[in-house]
Amino acid sequence: MLDSETNSKKHLSYWIGIQMRRDLPELANGPHAEIIPPYFKHSVNLLKEAVNADIVNLGNMGAVKTKAIYAEFNSTPPPPKIISKHPELPWELIYDRLDSCVLSPTCRDLWFIVINNIYPNKQRLHRLNQHETGNCAKCINTQETNPHLFMECANTRPVWLFVRELITDKQPGLLFTPCIDFMNLCYTKLEGENMTLFLLSTFVAFIHDCRRAEENVSVNKFKGFLKNCYFKYTQGKHPDIGVLNL
Ligand SMILES: [Zn+2]
Repeated sequence: MLDSETNSKKHLSYWIGIQMRRDLPELANGPHAEIIPPYFKHSVNLLKEAVNADIVNLGNMGAVKTKAIYAEFNSTPPPPKIISKHPELPWELIYDRLDSCVLSPTCRDLWFIVINNIYPNKQRLHRLNQHETGNCAKCINTQETNPHLFMECANTRPVWLFVRELITDKQPGLLFTPCIDFMNLCYTKLEGENMTLFLLSTFVAFIHDCRRAEENVSVNKFKGFLKNCYFKYTQGKHPDIGVLNL
């Protein structure tokens, strides 16, 4: 990666030295580019993750290759930082839910990155120098965090309240559950567990899809999405989730 013949340290320092100055101060010396091309922006993200996971440090940065970084990520994934950051959360229950056959593989991946707080919301992009403010496009002076994006934003809140009502209608025992506990999959385990998980995962997938397509969300649109997902779910071999009346 910092091979002295082809990709010299000087070269990397010129392109990404400023972005990496906190993690690898040695790269901060010398002249720097004014505008960083996308290729180097990606390199910065990769390098930051690698430094955080102790794969790259000042001692080995001269020898380590990009390929080796990917190999390291794939063979020995670092324990998610979120676990040590929030040891009070019931991680066994959370991972049981992430493993549930109620979730589609896509939904499981999506929720994994939400729970580990690496979903590319604007606040995260801002931290990675890829968004100017980190603020929500719709709500003035409000950082777009995961709870904001999925549950508090003026755009998504009506849909979230609708989902919450569907859940608590079926399981009044969850009536006083804080929203964040639903998002972190650490709400109390009750009888309607599968339906709750199905509703929550459909909701998260819906918000994510609309966001990716840059479409507005609405309760009606969600109802259509939910009906379609429920139909597909009941056609396949999945755990029973009960009847969904809309
Ligand atoms: Zn907002």
